[in-house]
Amino acid sequence: MVSRTIPTDPFDLVLFGATGDLARRKILPSLYRRFVAGQMPEDARVIGAARSELSDDDFRDLVRGALDEFVSDAKKDAGTIDAFVAQCSYIAIDAKGEGGWKELKKSVRDEVVKAFYFSVAPSIFGALAEKLRSHGIACDNSRLVVEKPFGTDLETAKKLNADLAASFHEDQIYRIDHFLGKETVQNLMAVRFSNVLFEPLWNERFIDHVQITVAETVGVGGRGSYYDTSGAMRDMVQNHLMQLLCLTAMEPPAAFDPDRLRDEKLKVIRALDPVPPSDVVRGQYKAGPEPSYVEDAENPDSKTESYIALKIGISNWRWKHTPFYLRTGKRMTERMSEIVVQFKETPHSIFERDEGSTANRLTIRLQPDEGMDLSVTIKEPGPGGMRLVNVPLDMTFAEALGPDGEEMPDAYERLIMDVIRGNQTLFMRGDEVEAAWAWTDPIIRAWEERGDTPKQYAQGSSGPEEALALMLRDGRRWRDLED
Ligand code: NAP
Repeated sequence: MVSRTIPTDPFDLVLFGATGDLARRKILPSLYRRFVAGQMPEDARVIGAARSELSDDDFRDLVRGALDEFVSDAKKDAGTIDAFVAQCSYIAIDAKGEGGWKELKKSVRDEVVKAFYFSVAPSIFGALAEKLRSHGIACDNSRLVVEKPFGTDLETAKKLNADLAASFHEDQIYRIDHFLGKETVQNLMAVRFSNVLFEPLWNERFIDHVQITVAETVGVGGRGSYYDTSGAMRDMVQNHLMQLLCLTAMEPPAAFDPDRLRDEKLKVIRALDPVPPSDVVRGQYKAGPEPSYVEDAENPDSKTESYIALKIGISNWRWKHTPFYLRTGKRMTERMSEIVVQFKETPHSIFERDEGSTANRLTIRLQPDEGMDLSVTIKEPGPGGMRLVNVPLDMTFAEALGPDGEEMPDAYERLIMDVIRGNQTLFMRGDEVEAAWAWTDPIIRAWEERGDTPKQYAQGSSGPEEALALMLRDGRRWRDLED
């Protein structure tokens, strides 16, 4: 297979939680794809760690199984898989026990990049960090990767930050939000800050509103009891949708460097208005072809939301009168994530207008078909007079940029390689996470205090009717999920 990418520096990546679901579905396949691309050097090593007593060979079988299941056939090649698994090994370690640490210390090399990936429950982050430090395995230039959820409220996030800070500096900690690794999300910054076209218009004078949607067709079955302690606000809005909002709303950073970018995102979070109850709609999917939310959650009295829509104001000069509408939900009609930047109508039209708006709209699609399109108004072709129509200037990345139709890299591929390169730009900083919880907590507390019951919505719909009304009352509409 052809290699197009320059290899990173040699590294030892210790993957805690190596036998778990995320490691199998995302992390190991992503490492393998980077190996195929030639980015993982031959002397890089992946050391799996978890409590299960596995030999190196057992672990290599587990890795093979994960690649077989989660890597596309086009990238599977027996020789390449053999070479990749030869770079993998395993050590049985319990975060809370003493076994395995000495062996791990002997295994990791001091002269290469050392990265420790915590793909485990957050409740053991602190114990793992402490053990790595006290056994002298991690040092000042080691890197630590932690998965979501980063806390369930401000207090727990502060505690996690403090637990990690006891053993690692902030510039060693990589808090993953995989949305930030998506090609389109990075392209949002490229489009905003490398084209003269958009930035002058990117404010309340020209933008009517912004819509951010993350819709899923799956329910919560399988992880219902975990999800029921979280809900859409904690699981999706506080992190993923918040990050999308920040990148859309932030001021241009002075440089594309981690702290300057994250400073700008932090300023956006701190400028978010409190959200009154009238600007939040929570929903739960009803029984349909599949079980209802409460059945999936195995909690008939559950008041947890599987859907949420919010109208959010930002109190700064750029956005004062431009609301951001966010929605996310399970068991919806389509799987689709996008940011829609709806521009205002022209101040005056010299043409007769048919029904409908001619205002420009920039749509940034995260999935499916990563890409962007800008709707522009043109004359309908033909002799029928000066009739106006909206047409998309479409840029689907896979078509426009994918070399020889190659699949787009998974967000995890980009992010793991950024860890090895020591680039924190696309990772959340501790103060950013805390600010996001500080904004989220009062919203959740308000509905808990008044015993708010989520509205029911049909499976395969676009959410509760009340969410439609949230925009209609402002004379606006959500974009159809099926468009
Ligand atoms: P999982 O399937 O339950 O795996 C947990 C892993 O942790 C297993 O390898 C387990 O192996 C290991 N483990 C548990 N207790 C341990 C201990 N005391 N010491 C050492 N290892 C221990 O969980 P997951 O779904 O992979 O999720 C891992 C993390 O990623 C969680 O924080 C989760 O919230 C986050 N996350 C997951 C997903 C996803 O799609 N799965 C998505 C985003 C974020 P042993 O039992 O062998 O010890």
